[in-house]
This record gives sequence, C-alpha cells and structure tokens, in this order.
Amino acid sequence: MAETQPCILVVEDNLDNRTLLIDMLGVMNYRVIEASDGIEGVEMAIREKPALILMDLSLPRKDGWQATRELKSNKAVAHIPIIALTAHAMHGDRERALEAGCDDYVSKPIDLLELAQKIRLHLEDTPGE
Ligand code: MN
Repeated sequence: MAETQPCILVVEDNLDNRTLLIDMLGVMNYRVIEASDGIEGVEMAIREKPALILMDLSLPRKDGWQATRELKSNKAVAHIPIIALTAHAMHGDRERALEAGCDDYVSKPIDLLELAQKIRLHLEDTPGE
C-alpha cells in the first residue's frame, strides 16, 4: 500500500454535491481534483490524467455527455473510466450517458456505498500506467 493513491477528477457544478463527493473520496484516501463545468473538466482530465472521472451530466458551458464524448474520442484519455452522476431517474439519461461513452453511472441522490463500490470496480479494471 506504499503506492501513490489514485487521483479522481470530480466534475460537478453543484457545490454541495461536489463537497460531499470530495469529502467521501478523501475519507477513502483518494487524491481528488475538481472542476465545476464541462470545459474545465475536459481540460483538467487531459492535463492531469486522473485514474477515474466522476462526471455530472447537467453542467454549465459544456454538458457531461459532450465532455464524455470528447474525452472518449481522445486517445490520450479514452482509457480513463468515467462514472456518470445522473440527476434524473429517467432511463433515457442513463442510456444517453452510456451512449456518450460513460463506463457506468450512479443515480442522484448518490448512494455513497454504491458509488464507492463502483469506483473500486472500475479502478481494478483499468490497466496501470
Ligand atoms: Mn449539475
């Protein structure tokens, strides 16, 4: 366990949600970086190459679906797992998230235990760099 802890990028415009996620990830010992809109999220993902991205879908300037499409079509970052945070319980949102290239999704209000399990699962699936 001497390795550096994986870095997780949180892209979320709602401050309360972002704070909750950052606190939880901190308790889980991950390093956390954050972005509050889709443009910043894409830029930060390319620059920092996090191990995993939590992507809100409803975001200012560039929504999470578009941000995901851009990241998944960029070879430098396409391998990074993206877990969508879907605000709506509607099936269409989830399907659109998967179509855009998200690897998984968690519905809001976020079940922290479910999210923690999905993060671990996707980090295990990712080949190390
Ligand atoms: Mn939002």
